[in-house]
Amino acid sequence: MNPYWSKIAQEITPYQPGEQPVDMNYIKLNTNENPYPPSPAVLKALAVTADHKLRLYPEPSAVELRKVIAAYYQLVPDQVFLGNGSDEVLAFSFLAFFNPDDTIVFPDITYSFYPVYCSLFKAKHRLIELTEDFSLPHVDLLSGASQGFIIANPNAPTGRYLELERVEQLLKANQSRLIIIDEAYIDFGGESAVKLINQYANLLIIQTVSKARSLAGLRVGFALGQQGLIEGLTRIKNSFNSYTLDRLAIAGAIASFQDQDYFLTSRDRVIQTRERIVAALKKKGFQVIPSQANFIFISHQHHKAEQLFAQLKLQGILVRYFKQPRIENYLRVSIGTEQEMDTFLTVISALIKEGD
Ligand SMILES: *Cc1c(COP(=O)(O)O)cnc(C)c1O
Repeated sequence: MNPYWSKIAQEITPYQPGEQPVDMNYIKLNTNENPYPPSPAVLKALAVTADHKLRLYPEPSAVELRKVIAAYYQLVPDQVFLGNGSDEVLAFSFLAFFNPDDTIVFPDITYSFYPVYCSLFKAKHRLIELTEDFSLPHVDLLSGASQGFIIANPNAPTGRYLELERVEQLLKANQSRLIIIDEAYIDFGGESAVKLINQYANLLIIQTVSKARSLAGLRVGFALGQQGLIEGLTRIKNSFNSYTLDRLAIAGAIASFQDQDYFLTSRDRVIQTRERIVAALKKKGFQVIPSQANFIFISHQHHKAEQLFAQLKLQGILVRYFKQPRIENYLRVSIGTEQEMDTFLTVISALIKEGD
């Protein structure tokens, strides 16, 4: 511990991102990246944008990109907020909408950044225990004192999707609380809650170009909500860093939203591969949680996940393992290309045969 650290730096347990190994060429199925390259239109926009204008600051609110995203979702630009990845948008949301000592509610199995933000911003949190199969229980989730609810939909790392009707019930029953829906994976089969924005002042949706749009390296995330919420986020951003999106990020993200055909094609390929792999794994005796995301959450009765994780890694395949109560016997496997997933299937099938 360094003597100059603040109390916060001393006490926080930071989020641990999945490995980005530099030592060898793994089949990377561990961080839910898209296995397909970004649209060629994006690469072209980046090349064109990398010119002498980089000496100039970007437009601070990235209004051109907000316009494009607003049009895409049939909203107005003042209902769109942009950030340097959706993780940053989530962090700003804590500062914009929650006070120290507020209680934020989220499921016990979910994106592990939520409790990190709670401790960074001194909020309390209360966990909702998901059912045995990682579904959201049918109870009055937010009874008792709480100021906000965060849910990833589809959830991570389970892949489970919560139907829009249930999202709306939550919004309706909790109009005094902010409901944040983290839709990082919504394009892989779920239905976005975006159509509920004009009806519910307590709805904030957070999305990203990192997953379905193959642009994790560009760092662009966004929030969608009524104008007052967006204004709150903008106040925080402008007290922190005026230029969270650089010129390249803005241009690349615009080009991505403008190339709808490419987006749909590569998204559909991931979905098709997912369905094929799920069927094949079930045949091999794996339990697979139903997924509407670009990853699957799997376990095998007779084979320890931690061991499979280590054996896969030795054979050049990286998946994600969380040594954590309730999910210590699961592996989260991102959907790669058809070929990568064939290799994964071959290797994991051999591993479970050896163990028998
Ligand atoms: C990947 C992910 C994010 C972060 O996305 P970025 O935009 O790359 O910061 C947010 N929420 C969930 C649930 C994710 O899995």
